[in-house]
Amino acid sequence: MSDANQRAITYSCAADALSGRVILVTGAGDGIGRAVSLALARHGATVVLLGRTQEKLEAVYDQIKSEGGAEPALAPLNLQVARPQDYQELASLLDNEFGRLDGLLHNASLLGEITPLESYPDGSWESVMQVNVNAQFLLTQALLPLLQAADDGRVVFTTSSVGRKGRAFWGAYAVSKFATEGMMQVLADELENISPVRVNAINPGATRTAMRANAYPGEDPQTVTLPEDIVAPYLFLLGPDSADVNGASIDAQPK
Ligand code: NDP
Repeated sequence: MSDANQRAITYSCAADALSGRVILVTGAGDGIGRAVSLALARHGATVVLLGRTQEKLEAVYDQIKSEGGAEPALAPLNLQVARPQDYQELASLLDNEFGRLDGLLHNASLLGEITPLESYPDGSWESVMQVNVNAQFLLTQALLPLLQAADDGRVVFTTSSVGRKGRAFWGAYAVSKFATEGMMQVLADELENISPVRVNAINPGATRTAMRANAYPGEDPQTVTLPEDIVAPYLFLLGPDSADVNGASIDAQPK
């Protein structure tokens, strides 16, 4: 395991370590995005909750407020249909509301179908590539000026083991995660020497969420790690202590 991976999974920080930082999380209403949003708020961050289901975002908002966290912002947006100007409007809103953005977590994804490429439905292919690849490109592009204006901006992508080695039947999801690893590496290399922004990826590993249950319907969920138990690498890569880590793909649950 790399030194950066070891530091990421054993990371712990003070309760105010992210205080003053504004961090946007996609897919913040459920699963890993929800758990990371709560953890970020518990460490002082102002979290911008982006997702497609307003009620889920509101429930996370309410929980952060009830725990005494900084008031979050709601950003309801369907990444499957959002157009470039929607991302530009979001950037303007963040600029007007906060005047800054310190972190961006690309977490929202679609699983699509588990089926051979030969019979993969083209509509599902397009949806997965739109949400998992194109949307994160458009969102990154729109938010980069704000991130580059921050003292130490952070971008974190979410990858998967099937985005590093292809596996039969994982179709568009696997291909989209290879693209995600590629986007992370290209952006990290572009910014390495010209900006304090650091760009990395996390592979959460098997985690007890709706997506995992869909992918492995026969699995007993009780045997799978809870989202709240893998937040350490997210806090590390979205916070101030990872300035020397760039272009890394971190395993939250190394084998
Ligand atoms: P979930 O399906 O539980 O949550 C995904 C989140 O993304 C949901 O909040 C969902 O919103 C949101 N989302 C999906 N489509 C859109 C869209 N079109 N617009 C806006 N938001 C959208 O997934 P996980 O928490 O399991 O996964 C989080 C990340 O971790 C993903 O990138 C996934 O690929 C990755 N991952 C997960 C693993 C696991 O074992 N769970 C393993 C490896 C990687 P809504 O709630 O409204 O549907």
